[in-house]
Amino acid sequence: MVEVIGFGLAGACVALQFQRAGYNVRVIDDRREGSSHIAAGLVNPVAGRNFEPSWEVEKAWKRALPFYQSLGEGLFHSVPILRLWSDEKDRSKFERKRNLLKPWIAEVTDEGVLWAKGGWLDCPRFLEVAREEFLARGGEWHDAPKGDSQIWCAGASGLIRGDFTDVEHRSAKGEILTVRIPGWGENRILNRGGWVIPIGADLYRVGATYDWDQLETGPTEKGRGKVETILQTFTNCDYEVVDHVAGIRPIINRSKPMVKFQEGKGWMVNGLGSKGVIYAPRVGFEMIDRLK
Ligand SMILES: Cc1cc2nc3c(=O)[nH]c(=O)nc-3n(C[C@H](O)[C@H](O)[C@H](O)COP(=O)(O)OP(=O)(O)OC[C@H]3O[C@@H](n4cnc5c(N)ncnc54)[C@H](O)[C@@H]3O)c2cc1C
Repeated sequence: MVEVIGFGLAGACVALQFQRAGYNVRVIDDRREGSSHIAAGLVNPVAGRNFEPSWEVEKAWKRALPFYQSLGEGLFHSVPILRLWSDEKDRSKFERKRNLLKPWIAEVTDEGVLWAKGGWLDCPRFLEVAREEFLARGGEWHDAPKGDSQIWCAGASGLIRGDFTDVEHRSAKGEILTVRIPGWGENRILNRGGWVIPIGADLYRVGATYDWDQLETGPTEKGRGKVETILQTFTNCDYEVVDHVAGIRPIINRSKPMVKFQEGKGWMVNGLGSKGVIYAPRVGFEMIDRLK
């Protein structure tokens, strides 16, 4: 029996992939709902100010997309991402890296560069569907560990508690708004510093803040103000805030996911950072390879 502790993006991918590979799996989740429940689900192959492709993004996404698709239609929404230029310097930075970025460029205009292969995963829905499949396949679900071979997928709460030794983290709190903007009609994901994701019915998700010092959970007025400022860099339209959420990104040094074994404790799968959607399925497969 394999015991997976935590059922966020990491735990869901690990648990399902082990089940599909023929293992008996038990999930332990304390239902505190980690960052996977609030993540915007953005899949941006070239995030960040420096036009740096995410680490091994092509390889990771090649494994991730079919996995999400195997769980049903409508979880991943393929939407073009328009990375707007900040200024001429920003555009020159892009031009210097243009060759390296070729696989992701759909179009370059005076407004910005349109990335191909981007979109967003409906994370809360993914967790629901993954749980349904897990239980339908006879998986066990408990609140407290029972022993057996343990794989800790505990996200930022596990990193902050220090579940595993010698794991330095620099987890970052983030806040997101959902806003209603009747009549704006923007149907691309916009990105420049922050981002706006159209999710249908005049609703948009906007984010996100980064805070490495205040790791207490819960939305704040300050965070809301910062996200509203981000939104106003994209549109002058009137908006109504309909939701405000916060979570903590589990970040380990160099922002790469980590699969680690510790004698007497078990395995740890953590450090998905701000790109959990891209990397979670791959770490699940890697975990199976390690335990074979
Ligand atoms: C504001 C914000 C926006 C984000 N946007 C994006 C985005 O657009 N795209 C993207 O790819 N990523 C995004 N992320 C990052 C993404 O949320 C994370 O990479 C990912 O969700 C981490 O998943 P996880 O499974 O490692 O952790 P979690 O989702 O935190 O899951 C861990 C689970 O383990 C449980 N748990 C912990 N300890 C125990 C225990 N002792 N016993 C039982 N259960 C336990 C927790 O309750 C939780 O359910 C965002 C994060 C934030 C905060």
